Amino acid sequence: MPAKVIVRDLSKRYGGVEAVRGVSFEIGAGEIFGLLGPNGAGKTTTLECLVGLREADEGTLEVCGLDARRQPREVKQKIGVALQSTALQDKITPREALKLYGSFYRERTEPEPLLERFALTEKADARFDTLSGGQRQRLALALAFVNKPELVLLDEPTTGLDPQARRELHTEILRMKQDGHTVLLTTHYLEEAEQLCDRIAIIDHGRVIATGAPHELIAQSSAVQTVTLVTLPALARERLARLPGVHDVEESGGALRFRTERPTETLAALAALIAQERVELVELQVRKASLEDVFVGLTGRDEGAATAPGEGRA
Ligand code: ATP
Repeated sequence: MPAKVIVRDLSKRYGGVEAVRGVSFEIGAGEIFGLLGPNGAGKTTTLECLVGLREADEGTLEVCGLDARRQPREVKQKIGVALQSTALQDKITPREALKLYGSFYRERTEPEPLLERFALTEKADARFDTLSGGQRQRLALALAFVNKPELVLLDEPTTGLDPQARRELHTEILRMKQDGHTVLLTTHYLEEAEQLCDRIAIIDHGRVIATGAPHELIAQSSAVQTVTLVTLPALARERLARLPGVHDVEESGGALRFRTERPTETLAALAALIAQERVELVELQVRKASLEDVFVGLTGRDEGAATAPGEGRA
């Protein structure tokens, strides 16, 4: 598939701050691509350079076949953008805002179908300051769609939303892909990237430190499976530690927890041990390595990338 976005060696500094330092990635037509990274990693700056809100210092930016540094006006006709928080006048209504935004473009969609698609029909004539956080974000997406964009760029679309509103937005974003749009989104929620994105670039301190499909990154990384085991009576820690592939055995609250790089082999040996010791199996959970494990493995820390509020890890 032809690339919708090509970023090569993008750099941007603010005075003494090197916000983006040689970032490169490509997004294929029809993909949902995620820029993932902690606060201050350079995600927003990258996105703002792509949409022409900031001037890049160095690098090549190609968007929808256009040179985004030389033809920013042409690029704007082909893309839809929802920035981190959409500030509109308190008194403007969704219908008026859609009409106003539409007037900026050669090609546009009328408010009605957009209000319907983004579940805002009931709120079409309500003042902006009376909309909930989720409704405001849906309006931001509707505004990004007003010019029938080939590429939609969403900067942290679900930050600050409750779990239900977040799920609704996820459904909308997946629908964009089904309808043939290409989507670039930034997020620091790892689950969000894992659920939505075909491919991601992990950004840290202004550099891309890994690119690929979430499942590929998980498979390539040294991230391993975690197993939780409860038996009655409990198995001896040393016996578990001797099973193939097992390491980091810990005990807490009557459960034994360990990691394994060879889960199939480990679990076969564990089943044999349970039968041999004639203990009762009360609980056995295997948790796959997550993107969070990959992130921690790559950056050596986990304080930056977040678990979405209300969405515990599987
Ligand atoms: P967040 O998740 O918090 O939005 P981000 O990954 O989007 O973070 P950026 O907003 O691109 O990161 O910021 C990258 C770096 O550039 C940070 O160190 C930030 O403080 C700095 N920065 C961003 N905008 C400006 C600005 N207008 N002036 C000076 N420094 C800036």
